[in-house]
Amino acid sequence: MIAVYPGSFDPITLGHVDIIERISPCFHEVHVLVAQASEKNYMFKPEERVEFFKQALPNINNLKFHMSSGLTVDFAKKIGAQCIVRGLRVVSDFEYEMVMANMNKKLAPDIETFIVFANPQYNFVSSRLVKEVAAHQGDLSGLVPECVRIAFNEKYSKQKR
Ligand code: ADP
Repeated sequence: MIAVYPGSFDPITLGHVDIIERISPCFHEVHVLVAQASEKNYMFKPEERVEFFKQALPNINNLKFHMSSGLTVDFAKKIGAQCIVRGLRVVSDFEYEMVMANMNKKLAPDIETFIVFANPQYNFVSSRLVKEVAAHQGDLSGLVPECVRIAFNEKYSKQKR
């Protein structure tokens, strides 16, 4: 079975890394799809977000990385994936994920959405909040991979100069 794990990943957190570590043994291939929607203002370029994944997860052999501005279901069809994986942290994630899963079902009835519960250790971790912590020089240990911590440091030390 082939899975797609789509998201903004701006930037990746240890919550995203944890989901991939847990799902990769369950599928033949996991295709991580990094969003590059032109209307959104991302902090990190799609290429940087892919690079973070590669550095954080060097030892998983069935992972592939892609960037896309299109529909996830179209990408899934193109590569022959049977399912889309999404993570669920807290109740407030549920409504969004359910609506998205139902829309994807309407667009592509043969593709299933699999929901994976966040590890409780990371259920409060979001890309948005880690950006806020980083912007105020907060401690990012236990929240993001080392490569992301370094990238934030570089970004904010450049701004200070
Ligand atoms: P999107 O903008 O598509 O929601 P995100 O990068 O925020 O992109 O999240 C991608 C996926 O990863 C979503 O399914 C989200 O619920 C999940 N996710 C985000 N943070 C965590 C976390 N800490 N633990 C588990 N799953 C997470």
